[in-house]
Amino acid sequence: MSLIYTCRHCGHEIGKLDEPVIDTSMLGFDQLSSEDREQMIQYLENGDMEIQIICEDCQETLKSNPQYHELDFFIQ
Ligand SMILES: [Zn+2]
Repeated sequence: MSLIYTCRHCGHEIGKLDEPVIDTSMLGFDQLSSEDREQMIQYLENGDMEIQIICEDCQETLKSNPQYHELDFFIQ
């Protein structure tokens, strides 16, 4: 199974991890509320997981647009 990190703002694929078994507690997901997890993690039909975080470009945009600040619960 693969973990695919995509930017949830622009859709850019940031990275991909291939792991036979993924322990989500190792990724820090257990630190998130279940609501955040539902928003961040998409389970794809082929068993892969897509993790929606934020890319560097959008992070810069957010920095200069603090009104978006309430959205930035991403892991970095
Ligand atoms: Zn982005």
